[in-house]
Amino acid sequence: MINERDAILVLNAGSSSIKFELFEVAGAPVARFAGQVEGIGAAPHFVAKDAAGARLADRRWDDGGAPANHRAALGVIIDWLDGVLAGRRVAAIGHRVVHGGPDLAAPVLVDVAVMERLRELAPLAPLHQPHNLAGIAAAAERFPGVPQVACFDTAFHRAHAWEADTFALPPEFYARGIRRYGFHGLSYEYIARRLAEEDPALAAGRVVVAHLGNGASLCAMHGGRSVDSTMGFTALDGVPMGTRSGQIDPGVLLHLLGTEGLALQDVQKLLYGNAGLKGMSGISQDVRDLEASDDPRAAQALSHFCWRVRREVGALAAALGGIDALVFTAGIGENARGIRARVCEGLGFLGIAVDPERNAANAPVISPPGAATRVLVRQTDEEGMIARHVLDLLRRSNKA
Ligand code: ADP
Repeated sequence: MINERDAILVLNAGSSSIKFELFEVAGAPVARFAGQVEGIGAAPHFVAKDAAGARLADRRWDDGGAPANHRAALGVIIDWLDGVLAGRRVAAIGHRVVHGGPDLAAPVLVDVAVMERLRELAPLAPLHQPHNLAGIAAAAERFPGVPQVACFDTAFHRAHAWEADTFALPPEFYARGIRRYGFHGLSYEYIARRLAEEDPALAAGRVVVAHLGNGASLCAMHGGRSVDSTMGFTALDGVPMGTRSGQIDPGVLLHLLGTEGLALQDVQKLLYGNAGLKGMSGISQDVRDLEASDDPRAAQALSHFCWRVRREVGALAAALGGIDALVFTAGIGENARGIRARVCEGLGFLGIAVDPERNAANAPVISPPGAATRVLVRQTDEEGMIARHVLDLLRRSNKA
């Protein structure tokens, strides 16, 4: 049973961080507190803020006693939350889980069987899934009996047509789960729902969403449903990212592993951690640092990034048979005016143009008045999307 004044906790456990957001249930979930422990395993740092962004806690452990693992880091978060919950009950916990595999196309209540299934999927996302599951295990231990809900980054894309979902390999590979899953689904779903609330006619049309953050991908949506995405089997595919390569000719990997004799772990480190904006520039993964730098490698990295994102907008518009709106979201999409303008350069053939004043102001609509294709900027909210899923699932199971 869920009551007004109950709280929903959302956790997003990554390789070295646990992010949290606490929502109050007041009809819909309302965000109250958010924060994270980052640097788990190295130099942990805990920060918590209220909904207005005011910093309520900021802690490092220079004198020892630092949380050594995810379980201990979650302990730090829960101890802090105990102080602000003021007797309110945590009615459920929602978890961001990167991979739901071919079958899990909607959020699920976690039980022993689901946990086992999610563990089996870990080889499909070795850098993310084990940490997501460690977060669920730690939360279940700390909140016994409280429903834990897993929400998947892949779920929004599960209805892709086979043509978009397959690689050009013999069918047994597809049967073994080697498919183009797509990720960032919680972000895309949030944008789809928001557009449907704001402008149902537009949401019913053909929309390309560019989620450009540290991780980056684009999604083609028709009628609010994902038709295709730039990410594939893993979150490495598609456009270049902060530290990830994005799409790369598979022949390059054969060359590195075969001819050059690189170890598998070194290639993995290169593609996930030392490629993309950071690897190309040799300076930083952060667009702000690259925009501020006068090093030509910084300019080149940004040029390549914009080029690849523009290409993918064109490819996804082709997948949709046209485009009614392009939506920019996530850290780069929401803030980096110069990147947005450069991505849209040359897309006039799709009716895409950017109004310089609107773009400079990060306005919600940055295309000129009367443009054939609208270009929008929207803030994404993956945690808010998870909280809504948790509430929907609890309300459904109460009725059942
Ligand atoms: P994550 O994938 O970690 O959630 P975000 O969506 O928060 O990432 O995006 C973080 C990235 O957004 C930063 O690395 C930086 O490149 C970019 N970014 C954030 N703010 C700005 C800004 N004001 N101008 C340009 N780029 C920005």
